[in-house]
Amino acid sequence: MNAKCACNVCSGQIEFESASVGQTIACPHCGMDTILYASPAQPSTVRNKRDKSDETIYSQGNIKVLPTRLMIGSATYAIAAISSLRIVMIPASKLPLLFSILGLIFLPALTGIFFDLGSMGGHILSGLLFLFAVFLIVVAVKKMKPTYALCITTTAQEQQVLTSPTVEALHPVESALHQAISMRG
Ligand SMILES: [Zn+2]
Repeated sequence: MNAKCACNVCSGQIEFESASVGQTIACPHCGMDTILYASPAQPSTVRNKRDKSDETIYSQGNIKVLPTRLMIGSATYAIAAISSLRIVMIPASKLPLLFSILGLIFLPALTGIFFDLGSMGGHILSGLLFLFAVFLIVVAVKKMKPTYALCITTTAQEQQVLTSPTVEALHPVESALHQAISMRG
């Protein structure tokens, strides 16, 4: 690691290997002998430390992971308070599917009330309605995708802090949080 000190004679800045502290060298500025010393406020190391605690680990949209906190929208969670995190799957609601199946059962019956099913027109109409109900079921099944939630456990309780239709979108946030937690030490 590099250190800096000022020349004893001309005060010019000298950069040197920190292992060389205590050695007498010829100043590169004035050529006079000067002793290399560790300056009290080691500027490089102090700055590195501060930068690290402010540095953004992950940032996407309104989600931000810093070494000390997780920010989602206006909510902020302290990394220090997080004891564990996990991704859970929230199953999709089955209501749309239920309605479609009810439709499949009742639509032909309803047509029977208003139309003469024995006629050719009635056959065509109830056939079309049946196809429509089948179409609704296909759509409902396709929409039945689960949601994924990133949950953190704090001293208070476990809470879902982030949800997404794809688990892949949550993985970067999860790993950034793991990184922040490991930096906390
Ligand atoms: Zn000098």
